[in-house]
Amino acid sequence: MTKTADVIVVGGGIHGCSTALHLALRGVKPLLLEKDYCGRHASGVNAGGVRQLARHVAEVPLSVASMELWERIEDLVGDDCGFESHGQVLVAEDEADFDNCRARVDDLRLRGFTHEELIDRSELKRLVPAVSDYCPGGVVSRRDGAADPFRTTQAFRRRAIECGAMVREGVRVLSIVRRGGIWHVATTDGALEAPVLVNAAGAWSGRLAEMAGEPVPLDVIAPMLMITARVPHFLDPVIILRGRKLSFKQFRNGTVLIGGGHLGKAYPDENTTVLDWQKLTASARTVDELFPVMRAATIVRAWAGIEARMPDDIPVIGPSKAADGLFHQFGFSAHGFQLGPGVGALMAELIATGTTHLPIEPFRVDRFVKRAYVTGDAPVLE
Ligand SMILES: Cc1cc2nc3c(=O)[nH]c(=O)nc-3n(C[C@H](O)[C@H](O)[C@H](O)COP(=O)(O)OP(=O)(O)OC[C@H]3O[C@@H](n4cnc5c(N)ncnc54)[C@H](O)[C@@H]3O)c2cc1C
Repeated sequence: MTKTADVIVVGGGIHGCSTALHLALRGVKPLLLEKDYCGRHASGVNAGGVRQLARHVAEVPLSVASMELWERIEDLVGDDCGFESHGQVLVAEDEADFDNCRARVDDLRLRGFTHEELIDRSELKRLVPAVSDYCPGGVVSRRDGAADPFRTTQAFRRRAIECGAMVREGVRVLSIVRRGGIWHVATTDGALEAPVLVNAAGAWSGRLAEMAGEPVPLDVIAPMLMITARVPHFLDPVIILRGRKLSFKQFRNGTVLIGGGHLGKAYPDENTTVLDWQKLTASARTVDELFPVMRAATIVRAWAGIEARMPDDIPVIGPSKAADGLFHQFGFSAHGFQLGPGVGALMAELIATGTTHLPIEPFRVDRFVKRAYVTGDAPVLE
């Protein structure tokens, strides 16, 4: 038997690269396989938002832990990844919105988290002077910010290699079979073997899970972004809205990146996406209303990335329930970039020690399976 590596990681996005790095830091020898090149998909083309703000409560501990790694990212990967911490602000557009903000902040405090702060109209205006006067306030997470996504993914890849990980790009995993306590992995570049396999294949992860006998209700989506020509500086924090689909930020060079959840169409087999210009127009209108200063801005480019979304909008993180030696790390539902450093560390901890110091139960892979086991029937997806 040839053992190629201690762990084969499938997928060279931020998650696969981060896990490979953290495994190597623990003295485990990973081999990362990427069918295209690292950062080619969601991890390289996203909005770069580094956000603890407004996360699903199950994700908050992971996001807070990841933020600690972002704040020392240069020590970790030898590159500052373009990370800047100008804060992120969630803007409430009416009193009902603002009440929801208050309830959310109170709820987080009861859970022991203080990174989200309720801000009134005057603090909102101080942080975001250009915002429309009708907005009554919002929530700020002051340590949040943004980074350069492609540069970040490449930095994790580079550092993983320096620490002993092997990375093979242009190599696609075709099939996986568990035999004799080993994963036999057929690839476009021959057969490989390892006792442990990590499924970090992003929008393509559902296929690997299915090969392992563990189908998941993963949706393949194409979140869209657009960018403007340069406009005079008017904004420091990243802005997100509570009620409508919008997020945006201004770069140092004056251009403004607009996103927030409108979807185009994804064609994962062709590695392509098609934009929905009507939805992009709706985003542009929302920006106009919220920031009158943007009315003269010109959109110069738009794109979309291919991303995996789970029905409950939180990822799958943890061991397979169907096969030994398989770990899942996918389904980040359009907000997995910020989680990359922390979840990679957690996955390496799980593989190396068999446990994690943060809760991952809410992310278990079988959470959508109807409990049919007692009857002896095959599991069915809800
Ligand atoms: C437009 C857009 C904006 C976003 N904005 C933000 C944001 O501001 N903040 C935030 O936190 N998140 C954001 N996200 C989400 C974030 O980008 C993703 O959640 C995250 O990058 C997912 O990382 P990943 O490593 O799981 O997946 P990916 O980056 O998709 O990496 C998976 C890799 O696996 C490879 N692969 C798949 N199958 C195989 C196979 N069989 N063999 C070998 N390799 C394979 C793929 O080629 C791919 O490179 C955004 C996403 C998009 C698309």
